[in-house]
Amino acid sequence: MTYAWSMTDGDHADDGYTADDLQPHGWSPGGYVGTCKVCGGRAFGAKRVRCCRSCAVRALEAERAKPPVVERREFWWITSERWGHPNQTPAEIIFRDDVASQVFAVGADEIYRAEDCVLIERVLPAGHAAAAVEKLQAASFNTGCPRTGYVIDEAIELLQGGLPV
Ligand SMILES: [Zn+2]
Repeated sequence: MTYAWSMTDGDHADDGYTADDLQPHGWSPGGYVGTCKVCGGRAFGAKRVRCCRSCAVRALEAERAKPPVVERREFWWITSERWGHPNQTPAEIIFRDDVASQVFAVGADEIYRAEDCVLIERVLPAGHAAAAVEKLQAASFNTGCPRTGYVIDEAIELLQGGLPV
């Protein structure tokens, strides 16, 4: 029923959204007329509404349509001038939608904000490097090409902490 759009600025629009749903998105019911800061149209509602009811409904629906935040945890070497870590220290990092968010430095009591830290390099989960070394050793053994074998052996040394680049 698209013709209902013209009515959605009223307090009694029957789109199923309540004043509580829309208040966080800038609209509350009331008897005032202002200007919508989103579409520039007239905003009927409470005295200080930020936008018209239609724009608040669109903002709410856009938020509900967003996929949930994807969270992952990784260990990194970090430094943080602000928190007194001038030298690299290990920390668990929480990423939200691929953006570093919170930092739990090993042994620290406080949770740091990622903005206050420098992420240096990811620490491979325990066991991953050892597993990679095993695979590479098999590849090195099986390859018929000496040059490839040499490169694989170098990769093994890198994973074992040798061969500074
Ligand atoms: Zn609007």
